[in-house]
Amino acid sequence: MQTKIYDELLNSKRRLSLMLFLFLNIVTALFLSLRATSHTPLTACAPTLLIAIFSVALLARLLINPAAQIQRLNSVALFTGLLWAWHIFSRYHYQFYIADNYLLVALVSVFFISAIALGDHLLAFCLHALPTAATVLILDAGRNTLLMLFTVTLPLVGFTLHHLMLRRLDNFTRRLLSQLYAEKESYSDLSMLDPLTGLYNRRGLTNRLQSILEKHSGSHFVLLLDIDNFKAYNDNYGHTMGDQALIRVSTAIRDAVRSRDVVTRFGGEEFLVLLTNVNETIAMQLAERIRQYVVNLEISHRFNDKVSTHVTLSAGIAPLEGDDFNTALTNADRALYLAKNQGRNMLLSWQDLMNSTQPQAADPQNVFTGGK
Ligand code: GH3
Ligand code: MG
Ligand code: MG
Repeated sequence: MQTKIYDELLNSKRRLSLMLFLFLNIVTALFLSLRATSHTPLTACAPTLLIAIFSVALLARLLINPAAQIQRLNSVALFTGLLWAWHIFSRYHYQFYIADNYLLVALVSVFFISAIALGDHLLAFCLHALPTAATVLILDAGRNTLLMLFTVTLPLVGFTLHHLMLRRLDNFTRRLLSQLYAEKESYSDLSMLDPLTGLYNRRGLTNRLQSILEKHSGSHFVLLLDIDNFKAYNDNYGHTMGDQALIRVSTAIRDAVRSRDVVTRFGGEEFLVLLTNVNETIAMQLAERIRQYVVNLEISHRFNDKVSTHVTLSAGIAPLEGDDFNTALTNADRALYLAKNQGRNMLLSWQDLMNSTQPQAADPQNVFTGGK
């Protein structure tokens, strides 16, 4: 994805290079065509006219259709390079008195176009400049070989080194981009996890809930769990031991359910499990299994004595109707409140609420708008 964006950027740069290249060719070719004297035969003007017509047509196409795929920079560079070589060759015979200067100026002009527009594209640069360089060397016939070679070689060496530097920069940018995106991904993953237990936090739940509601059409259940008398556990065994107990309880909850279920640390010692694609019977069995797994951990809790000698939890469960998560959460919370009132270490469902005469808990705060 990230390299795709970068490649798009390079493509648009390539496209702009081609447009600039065509523009410079048009201006130079028109200028030279207009400078042709009445003595210059039409055949000698043909190459520059061809360059101008070809470049105008291609430029117009690029402007009219900005989405056109530009794969032809190299072939365009070679084609115009050959036309320039033809131009130099055909005009050379009409420059009797300034032949040497003519060749040098012609060479520099073509190199100038290449340097300005094709500086970042070594192959296109060579394809455009080399036909001219070869023609000039042939026409010079050894009179100024050293000067011509110098004029040809220096830009070529310079651009090769420039190109190598660009390649390094390009590789570096690509590596940097991949690294940045990888880090972004991992931070985004981490921001969805609770650091103590490794379970999803509320942000993770929101994220999973959205994709579950989009993908699954089956029935889901919201299960809310709360460790019993955990304040007393902390007060008496210490906060560090409390943290250890929380980690072990989290693992037990995760072990008790299926991988498709979403286990969240919903608050301090409260957990929310989204049981997905499940019928009521299995959902109740899974919820009961969690309660049992936690009891089986046998984490001593002397101050839970009215309930058990170990750490226990109470649970409330409710179905998720449609995508109304908040109603399901409210119902599960009421069932949990009832479970606490009825003695703790038990699982109650939204149906138990109907049979109950117990007062109901206040609505929990909306998971999407605040803490509970
Ligand atoms: P109940 O059975 O009614 O739920 O009683 P409780 O004591 O569990 O409930 P209460 O809400 O009074 O206390 C919750 C305690 O959970 C308070 C806090 O010390 C403890 N707790 C919350 N988060 C953490 C945590 O990250 N680590 C530790 N060690 N304790 C925590
Ligand atoms: Mg609580
Ligand atoms: Mg509690």
